[in-house]
Amino acid sequence: MSRILIVEDEHAIADIVAFNLNREGYETLIAADGTTGLEKALGEEFDLILLDVMLPGLDGWEVLSALREKKTVPVIMLTAREEELDKIHGLELGADDYITKPFSMNELKARIRANLRRVDYAKVGEQVVTEGQRLVVNHALMQISKDGRILELTAKEYALLLFLMEHRGSVFSREQLLEQVWEFEGFLGDTRVVDVMIRRLREKVEDDPGNPDFILTKRGAGYYMEA
Ligand code: CA
Repeated sequence: MSRILIVEDEHAIADIVAFNLNREGYETLIAADGTTGLEKALGEEFDLILLDVMLPGLDGWEVLSALREKKTVPVIMLTAREEELDKIHGLELGADDYITKPFSMNELKARIRANLRRVDYAKVGEQVVTEGQRLVVNHALMQISKDGRILELTAKEYALLLFLMEHRGSVFSREQLLEQVWEFEGFLGDTRVVDVMIRRLREKVEDDPGNPDFILTKRGAGYYMEA
């Protein structure tokens, strides 16, 4: 059973989300402010965290930055529609996904499934794949190391890098990556998400992020890794 932490100060929203997720078979825990949310997120094991932005105590950004220093658990940010830019800010800080309020339960459940599925899928295999002798994937541990050093990747960064490694030689547009890695369809996806995540990944993977060797840009087409 997957455990989900809901960090949300609006009780009506937290309760209805918890109710619906429990009915789907998830175990949930609600934290009504940022400080408690961070404490729970660091102190207990969760498979996924839903994190509101506007919170008393620490806000969602502060919780996310502090959390990312220690844990790579998938985080879905809950943002208000007027906080359009926050999506990008959240992704830069290490969020894996976002959902805009007001959202439907079906939308939320789909996003949760998409983020958990990547994790489950990645846990299946145990083989090690090498990339130019420098990048090595350990599927069982969901880790990718570079030159023998484990990269500190979030679940989404791992999924994106793994996807590009497994499809070396093919160029993918932002829309295709949104569909394949985020499982966004149509208007739900914002292609800037892909650029932010690629930038974040390059900072972790490349020797010189401004002059990448691994994750390459095909101008006007998208991103790829060399075969
Ligand atoms: Ca709030």
